[in-house]
Amino acid sequence: MVDKKNLRTPIVSVMGHVDHGKTTLLDKIRGSSVAAGEAGAITQHIGATEVPIDVIVEKCGNPSLRERFVVPGLLFIDTPGHHAFTSLRSRGGALADLAIVVVDINEGFKPQTIESLQILKRFKTPFVVVANKIDRIHGWNPVPNASFLVSYNKQAEHVQQYLDNKFYEVIGELFNIGFNADRYDRIKDFQHTIGVIPISGHTGEGISDVLMVLLGLAQKFLEANLQYDASGPGVATVLEVKEERGLGTTVDLILYDGMLQKGDTIVLGSLGEPIQTKVRAILKPRPLSEIKSEEKFQQVDKVIAAVGIKISAPNLDGALAGTPLRVATAETIDKIVKDIKQEVDAVHIDTDTMG
Ligand code: GDP
Repeated sequence: MVDKKNLRTPIVSVMGHVDHGKTTLLDKIRGSSVAAGEAGAITQHIGATEVPIDVIVEKCGNPSLRERFVVPGLLFIDTPGHHAFTSLRSRGGALADLAIVVVDINEGFKPQTIESLQILKRFKTPFVVVANKIDRIHGWNPVPNASFLVSYNKQAEHVQQYLDNKFYEVIGELFNIGFNADRYDRIKDFQHTIGVIPISGHTGEGISDVLMVLLGLAQKFLEANLQYDASGPGVATVLEVKEERGLGTTVDLILYDGMLQKGDTIVLGSLGEPIQTKVRAILKPRPLSEIKSEEKFQQVDKVIAAVGIKISAPNLDGALAGTPLRVATAETIDKIVKDIKQEVDAVHIDTDTMG
């Protein structure tokens, strides 16, 4: 049994073609989690939203499931389709631990969907495919926020048939690019078969199924990768490099291992030599209850993985989204600089050859 104490929150990215519904799906996950309320609120990070396991389990309407899962929740990256998540990588793997690939069931696969799938395949990232916008199927009678099967069983037969046909087109397209796939509820072995879940980001149908399948994937395939050392040196990936009034150039990042403290020496990727600097401030979003405050952010002295934060530090100009950031000491800095340079170079060769 894995030690729960050192298991961090898996990081999930949402991928897929523009307009197929990534943002809507994320909003729905966030919104319904807020509504789930009492089980524990979601936490807003910089660039990410954390949904605790209690909220997910409550949303799925089956508290007995709580015991089955050891992960503390899921951390969703808020910038779907961000270049850093679709073509760059960290530590030789995809930045995210898990992914959701969104495809509009009425439109089928597009080049961006296929590109996402190829990247996931390359990095062996576990993922689910959601066949979105089922509410647009002619004659669909929505059952808001229901599990897909509950809703499906309430549809007229010709509507079910139409959905089945569209659904099997998606399965066929996945097969054509080398994936065995099936409807998520028919899969026994998620290692060899990709789960596909018909959903609607608008009505919320199927969302609980998506969350459950993600937890299942995390549980089955990620436990080993999710172990982390809470007191170890921080390891992160840069999400965005941004000017903030009063702070100068700042970097938004996802810390996925170890600890980051104010004053730490950090090394991060840039197009030239890696940047070496010291953390001046660690910033988190101000809680909603304090929204009246002028300041968007609150400062903290220390954070532990997995979190999305903003940092300010001298010399951040030239930092590169999608590249690694690591905490260094006098003993480790030379090796870290070398490793980061190599990683950034490798990524650039990769993305160049990927076209
Ligand atoms: P993104 O570009 O992939 O992030 O796509 P968006 O989430 O912005 O959605 C693109 C458009 O499709 C918007 O007009 C959404 O309102 C709409 N949309 C997204 N999901 C659904 C859905 O499940 N049903 C319907 N009917 N429309 C949707």
